Amino acid sequence: MMQQVHGAEIAELKRTGDLSGGVIPGCDGVIINGISAPFAAVVKVADCVPVFAFSSGKLLGAFHAGWRSIAAGITEKYIKILKKYGCRDIELFAGPHICGSCFEVGPEVLNKFPDAAAGGSRVDLIKALGHKIEKVGLSSSRLKLFKEKGFCTLENDCYFSYRSGDEKRMAAFAIQH
Ligand SMILES: [Zn+2]
Repeated sequence: MMQQVHGAEIAELKRTGDLSGGVIPGCDGVIINGISAPFAAVVKVADCVPVFAFSSGKLLGAFHAGWRSIAAGITEKYIKILKKYGCRDIELFAGPHICGSCFEVGPEVLNKFPDAAAGGSRVDLIKALGHKIEKVGLSSSRLKLFKEKGFCTLENDCYFSYRSGDEKRMAAFAIQH
């Protein structure tokens, strides 16, 4: 599990001993490479986007994509590391998050996402992620949603939402076994 500080640091775990199950300090992304032991990649969220990365159908890790981390370049950095490892057929899956119709932001945030505006002062984080992915040479179609409808954390009571005043967080996770 990552500490999640809304930055762009990514921890690279290479040995089975690195899979301690403890909190990895100071990072918002984790890449597990070359470890054959089973593991779960966990992202705590309540409106931000939990993103899970796969290569050739194998889970490689996850990152926490709030607007701060996306603006800080976590997406490009993450994919560059995967490419450095020679990962092929990279696919990203996004879990429940706040939708573009609900994510109203101030001008200082809107200005960071000129190509992901969702009308008025709203930002579509999935669109923002798609553009970042294309910047490092992948098609935005490589980013998929687990579910298309009833997905917004603000609109759907099944999910915790920071924006709607929930203090609790959800744990989104994927398991490689
Ligand atoms: Zn919504």
